[in-house]
Amino acid sequence: MDLLLYEWGKRQIIDLDIRPPDGFLETIASRSGIDLNTLRCMTIVGWVPWLIDSFDLDGDSFNCYVNQFSVLLPKKFRLMRTAPGWRAWLPQTIYQRVCPVCLSKSIEKPIYKLAWQLPLFVSCPVHGCWLELVRGYSDNFHSSVDRGSLPRAADQVITKMDRYTEQAFTTGYVNLPRRNIHAGLWYRLLRTLIEEISTPVTRCGAQSKTLKKIWSSLGYSLRAGKLYWQPFEILEPAVQVQFLEAAATTLSYDRNPRNKSLGDIRLFIVT
Ligand SMILES: [Zn+2]
Repeated sequence: MDLLLYEWGKRQIIDLDIRPPDGFLETIASRSGIDLNTLRCMTIVGWVPWLIDSFDLDGDSFNCYVNQFSVLLPKKFRLMRTAPGWRAWLPQTIYQRVCPVCLSKSIEKPIYKLAWQLPLFVSCPVHGCWLELVRGYSDNFHSSVDRGSLPRAADQVITKMDRYTEQAFTTGYVNLPRRNIHAGLWYRLLRTLIEEISTPVTRCGAQSKTLKKIWSSLGYSLRAGKLYWQPFEILEPAVQVQFLEAAATTLSYDRNPRNKSLGDIRLFIVT
């Protein structure tokens, strides 16, 4: 941290996690002795093109990423959108979230995972508890974390989805029940599903029953109460979590026919 602050000054240190300026990582690698590829994988730009297609702005990047596949709804129900400046999974404000259990077990070196700061996870895949927002976060993280948060157990359908995502980050693949898929495909299918459950029910014909069941099974309003469409990435964190819960519920049903509240939902994945 001292080296980063020395090279970067008092500016937002989180910017380095997203897309450090050209030459910055090379400087840190030479001064710290840490391998450049290791450093690059510690940034979001290092996850291009798996997690994000590109950091270069492209007018149709949203539809290329989100509308390429179908998971829950046929493509005929989908809307092509325009989202200038959009990048998959990158929120306007980066979350500062931790797992209370991970944190309690790492007093000397608190565990902060960059992926947990994106609206990709709801829970800690290891401990199965909700990630909690850090209060009073600052760039010199360690002293400002509220270590008093009690872990809240996440529903197993949420943890299951988060473990798939964790596997994508750590191995590059996801072992789904019927087949293994590449991490890049997992991120896109998950983002597609989130978009599908955001579709207005008035566009979905008979499939509107499916969407209503998914949301009502969680006790949430349709589209997490959003009356008009916005890219998932710019929604409030609490609303993003509701979308992720709805996605997890949808995914869990496919292998759980005993879930009577969602009894007639069938997932199909077109790749
Ligand atoms: Zn944990």
